[in-house]
Amino acid sequence: MESQQLNVVFVPFPTPGHMIPMIDTARLFAKHGVNVTIITTHANASTFQKFIDSDFNAGYSIKTQLIQFPSAQVGLPEGVENIKDGTSLEILGKLSRGIWMLQNPIEILFKDLQPDCVVTDMMHAWTVEAAAKLGIPRIHYYSSSYFSNCAFHFIIKYRPHDGLVSDTQKFTIPGFPHTIEMTPLQIPDWLREKNAATAYFEPMFQSEKRSYGTLYNSFHELESDYEKLSRGTLGIKSWSVGPVSSWVNKDDEKKANRGNMEELEKEADWLNWLNSKENESVLYVSFGSLTRLAHAQLVEIAHGLENSGHNFIWVVRANDRDEGENSFLQDFEQRMKERKKGYIIWNWAPQLLILDHPATGGIVTHCGWNSILESLNAGLPMIAWPMFADQFYNEKLLVDVLKIGVPVGAKENKLWNSISVEAVVKREEIVKAVEILMGSGRESKEMRINAKKLGDASKRTIEEGGHSYNTLIQLIDELTSLKKSKALDEKVN
Ligand code: UDP
Repeated sequence: MESQQLNVVFVPFPTPGHMIPMIDTARLFAKHGVNVTIITTHANASTFQKFIDSDFNAGYSIKTQLIQFPSAQVGLPEGVENIKDGTSLEILGKLSRGIWMLQNPIEILFKDLQPDCVVTDMMHAWTVEAAAKLGIPRIHYYSSSYFSNCAFHFIIKYRPHDGLVSDTQKFTIPGFPHTIEMTPLQIPDWLREKNAATAYFEPMFQSEKRSYGTLYNSFHELESDYEKLSRGTLGIKSWSVGPVSSWVNKDDEKKANRGNMEELEKEADWLNWLNSKENESVLYVSFGSLTRLAHAQLVEIAHGLENSGHNFIWVVRANDRDEGENSFLQDFEQRMKERKKGYIIWNWAPQLLILDHPATGGIVTHCGWNSILESLNAGLPMIAWPMFADQFYNEKLLVDVLKIGVPVGAKENKLWNSISVEAVVKREEIVKAVEILMGSGRESKEMRINAKKLGDASKRTIEEGGHSYNTLIQLIDELTSLKKSKALDEKVN
């Protein structure tokens, strides 16, 4: 007799901000009785395999199906398989080509594994057709907010920025229930003017409409207006099952190692440093896994943090250290250590643990969606410092809709360190934002109250009977019914 267990294949896109939530989601499916297979390459699997092994050993039906990254064909060293390893545009180009070449092996696996459904990252638009060939649903996994996805769809459709006299003139996002103003400089360049990337990104948003529906790492209580807008006006079926990270990583050990291959020290220096600080006195500063900062910007951040007089932990990418005058940051690190004011974590921080630590009182974030959800879950208000992609939309959500963020005043949507000199955020602007967030004024108090409320809602929604909890169960039930009716159809015909 054919198994009634639902088989779902997950295909993440190899960048931490996309992969981490998808792996968390796949694990949640398995914990709710689904037979899960995750397709990825060796180096990417090594960042999460221990969780899969532990779930498997606990009796859940979950495994990783490895495919070979075409390193030699694209001219990359072994093990360079993730967008975060793209330290130059050349490497980034090769990585993208390598990822593109995985289509064939993934499609072959789809045929071999015969899943009942595929959940694939938004970047794998081609999987819509691959799933259609097999007669199974493809679920589009969108790794950011409903708000940002709606903004993309409406701006692509109505192009409200066309015909403005300058790149810094404001336009209003059409169709939104709130008045959200932006400048053309704050939207991605491929959307501002058509370029080679437009041909890649626009079909991605189109592919969403041809999918069975979209899965969000978001939750109903957080952005219900935009959940409604997406389902109603855009007509896209969707499920909000987040925040998946706090749902699946409930104990400290799992939090600590998430997204990282190396084992964490038990008596970590950063933890002793945080333990020595008063409650809610430390600002955590992180720009996510991909951002690279220009040297001029690093200098402004260092001075801004120092001049603010508040305690801080700042995560600095090793890439940034290589970027030129090394000694500046090293001298700064030394000085801050002596004054016990600031702590630099090089490269990768155990972000969930830092955010949940009682000494942490706020975050400077690049507005990556996962970092936003994680801060919010810890009940922390934010300084919004968007850099690229969807991050400027997320800034608006934080500042104008949820009222839990202070904008630092970022002006230009640019990947990496290529922003113009005028767009470098100055130390005075940083000090001003830090004073608002970490000070004892009315604004800070209100943002803290709002953030705590949302933090509580984010904890409730994933508990049994909560919105996200119920949605996940309903989705699994729906997919199981589809499987059954398909099996019945096949029997009858
Ligand atoms: N992250 C982390 N340590 C770091 C940097 C990032 O654990 O030093 C995690 C972070 O907690 C989040 C993800 O990596 O889950 C980054 O995703 P996000 O959407 O915030 O930003 P992106 O890196 O995609 O720009």
